[in-house]
Amino acid sequence: MLFQNDEEGRLVSPDFNRENDNETEISLRPKTLDEYIGQEKIKENLKIFIDAAVKRGESLDHVLLYGPPGLGKTTLAGVIANEMNVQIRVTSGPAIEKPGDLAALLTNLNEGDILFIDEIHRLSRSVEEVLYPAMEDYSLDIIIGKGPSARSIRLDLPHFTLIGATTRAGQLTAPLRDRFGCLFRLELYTPEELGTIVRRSAGILGIAVDEEGAMEIASRARGTPRIANRLLKRARDFAEVMGEGIITEEEARRALSRLEIDEYGLDSIDRRLLLTMIQNYNGGPVGLETIAAAIGEEAVTIEDVYEPYLMQIGFLSRTPRGRTVTGAAYRYFDLPVPGQQTLL
Ligand code: ADP
Repeated sequence: MLFQNDEEGRLVSPDFNRENDNETEISLRPKTLDEYIGQEKIKENLKIFIDAAVKRGESLDHVLLYGPPGLGKTTLAGVIANEMNVQIRVTSGPAIEKPGDLAALLTNLNEGDILFIDEIHRLSRSVEEVLYPAMEDYSLDIIIGKGPSARSIRLDLPHFTLIGATTRAGQLTAPLRDRFGCLFRLELYTPEELGTIVRRSAGILGIAVDEEGAMEIASRARGTPRIANRLLKRARDFAEVMGEGIITEEEARRALSRLEIDEYGLDSIDRRLLLTMIQNYNGGPVGLETIAAAIGEEAVTIEDVYEPYLMQIGFLSRTPRGRTVTGAAYRYFDLPVPGQQTLL
């Protein structure tokens, strides 16, 4: 099994660690709203909010971006900063351990700056409490001293914009969610949009890819730009070593089949997940934790990474009683759909 489940994780996993956020990754990130492909509704609204804030000479209202990993939340935060012509400071929920860490970040901001907190649902309660007055009144309450002589002083903060990103808006506490003025849900991209992203990335990286090759990669990238870019780079390796150096439809197919990604963009873990549900649980309904234990993956990973795409292509559905596999998934495995008579 080549390239599958190696230590860096599955090839179609959209996760990335920050050390991998190297120069190629940075150069591939769009800088302006016009360069940012897809998510049209979000862009339209953002344009208006940004224009209005710039006109009034104010900072932008706090923004919450949510949706599966790799869809462009971090990129969009950078685009907003660029369009507002302000500085952006990037951090993440788990990195802010103590209230003091957040206080230090906030007091170092300049007027209008953006503070981007990735995985904002992972902030601790005590840190979150510092965030409330900061978001609402641009102030910081600091307690000085201990016991009966302790007193609280209020520090004024610059008018900043908080951009929070999360894969799971449902896990945000209500008081935090309510303090965001704009909430945007990022959607999975269409193959056409991903095709444009692949061609754009190929242009930046100097990779030769034809129209059909780009579409082949795009249609197997699970609706996710990060995966599309990653598949493009791997397809280039195959085209350079085993082919003529140009990613054609045939080259793309060869690369993707070597990577064990099928024409639906599914890999062995997706297939195992669906097959386990079909063979062990009659296609469901089955609870998330049960599936997780059965296939040895974490429930959160299944929920954030695998399910959104399987639901988008109509292979899986969520019901109040658990997950169920659809008829389309049975047909994908050439298995008879339960409750449906086979026509002879
Ligand atoms: P997230 O923060 O949602 O996990 P990122 O913002 O890190 O996702 O995006 C992952 C990669 O995908 C980026 O490096 C960027 O090159 C690419 N990307 C994301 N969204 C777009 C887009 N709308 N247009 C072009 N490229 C995009």
